[in-house]
Amino acid sequence: MPTGTCPECDADVHVDLDTDKGETVSCEECSASLEVVGLDPVELDIVDEEDLDDDEEDEEM
Ligand SMILES: [Zn+2]
Repeated sequence: MPTGTCPECDADVHVDLDTDKGETVSCEECSASLEVVGLDPVELDIVDEEDLDDDEEDEEM
């Protein structure tokens, strides 16, 4: 099984053989979301998740 290196914590991240470029995997060590940007060798890039969910802490009141 191919492994990439987590850019966040330098841990080895296992990537399934059928994972395609552009898919997202999670680092088991720091639970960061990592996008597969290369397959030979496996390269991982941190996915910035801040845009997915707006912080709406103040909307409740
Ligand atoms: Zn990590």
